Amino acid sequence: TLTAWVNGRFVPLEEATIHIEDRGFQFADGVYEVIACFGGRFLELEAHLDRLENSCEGIGISLLKSRPELIELIHDTYHRNPFDHAMIYIQATRGIAPRSHLLTQEVEPTLVITARELPSPSAEKLTHGASAITLPDIRWKRCDIKSIALLASVIGKQEAARQGVDEAFWLDDEGHILEGCATNCFAVINGELVTHPLDHHVLGGITRHLALKVAREHDITIVERPWRLDEPGLSECMMSSTTNAVVAVSNIDGVTIGNGAAGPISTNLRQWILDEFEAMKQ
Ligand code: PLP
Repeated sequence: TLTAWVNGRFVPLEEATIHIEDRGFQFADGVYEVIACFGGRFLELEAHLDRLENSCEGIGISLLKSRPELIELIHDTYHRNPFDHAMIYIQATRGIAPRSHLLTQEVEPTLVITARELPSPSAEKLTHGASAITLPDIRWKRCDIKSIALLASVIGKQEAARQGVDEAFWLDDEGHILEGCATNCFAVINGELVTHPLDHHVLGGITRHLALKVAREHDITIVERPWRLDEPGLSECMMSSTTNAVVAVSNIDGVTIGNGAAGPISTNLRQWILDEFEAMKQ
């Protein structure tokens, strides 16, 4: 059986319940993190906890847990579950109170931590690349906060699945690719790695940061600017996330990118990130 941390204790997952007046349930009034763990090693744990802290600050909640306490809970959750490679899900909500937009009483935040098996992209996807559609961005204006209010992303993902593709990329009003429903996006344009700059339109992905780091280490030129799919010289696209690392995207809106397979920079970035994981295990 799987074990979850909920309401201040570890319980079997099937017995893990949240009050119906939890503000996470009623208002999506909360934030979350997803952290990858490879054989007991957490990838960029501190960066994820920094981002969690920023998200909490962004919506004005305080976790009432110190960094070492959180780290211990995360390790505990990992060890109480049967996965070698796991994704740890952490959700913090403002707490439980009678339903009212304005919270007037002091409440304790709700903290939930679960572990699930870390999925890995299929060999076919790694060779041929994933596929995506573009959709007008219908999300709120603080995408830098990792909010649990994911309705737009759910709709985007559902539309992608309906069209038989893997991801939906959000477009701003000028047709720039911002990011995906659950991924950051990159293009290779005239040999340079291009991705939308960090602002309120995108989440500061931990994998995005890692990808830029390894690219820099391998002397790839990085340009953080808004970019469009129809730019001349565009030869590759890719997406990054904790659950995917980096995966090439070889078809967007039915149009083939490059030669329709995973391109060299996407493939290298993925390998360099995996090498970082390996180095971390030693
Ligand atoms: N952008 C969005 C909107 C996301 O939801 C996610 C992850 O869930 C990412 C980007 C990728 O972030 P990370 O690499 O930290 O997993």
